[in-house]
Amino acid sequence: MDKATNHPYDELLAAYSAGSLPLSQALCVSAHLENCKSCGQKLQRLNRVGSQLMQQLKPARASEQLKNRLLDSLDALTDEAAEHEPTKVDPSVPRCLHQFIDSNYNDLAWKRVSADIHSVELCRDSNGAKVELLKIKPGGSATTHTHLGDEYTVILEGSFSDEGGLYRQGDFMVRTDNDQHTPVATQDRECICLAVTEGPIQFTGLVSRLLNPFIRRGYA
Ligand SMILES: [Zn+2]
Repeated sequence: MDKATNHPYDELLAAYSAGSLPLSQALCVSAHLENCKSCGQKLQRLNRVGSQLMQQLKPARASEQLKNRLLDSLDALTDEAAEHEPTKVDPSVPRCLHQFIDSNYNDLAWKRVSADIHSVELCRDSNGAKVELLKIKPGGSATTHTHLGDEYTVILEGSFSDEGGLYRQGDFMVRTDNDQHTPVATQDRECICLAVTEGPIQFTGLVSRLLNPFIRRGYA
């Protein structure tokens, strides 16, 4: 599905290459990269630049103790990999999400958020960011909302539109806390997104404004 038209910006890819992104954001970049050739090529270039820079650094001598610890942990990793059964996860699920999904999206413990939306939390990052999957029914809508922090979204299946345009499978988006938007899934099929939110959602619609004090997170 190499048809994404919205990609991670260069600074984000550079941070991913340097390994300095928080886990939650790295998951979103990874999910996009698995199906985006152009970002994959960009990442390879960034990795090359990174390794050239590393080669220019004068290596520090590692102690015997550190070397042994490193070798032990590599052994442990290899043993762990050998013990793992071959994956039975549906090939449409990005590899970076296999750690959270045993078979396919249908088997997850989806929770009803509203008539149009279900969600399932995958994990919390150490910085407090929430990593979840959102499922919007065909033609379904999320209430207009803003964010107290940034929101990262990757479309895994289907498509949705909001004030910014139409977003399809593979597209990567970042919404900052100034953006107010109302995503609406297209009519043809349900839309499944990987979403990372750094702060609670703030509803901005008239009725939902009343809900804000009661709902810490969600698309009522
Ligand atoms: Zn891309």
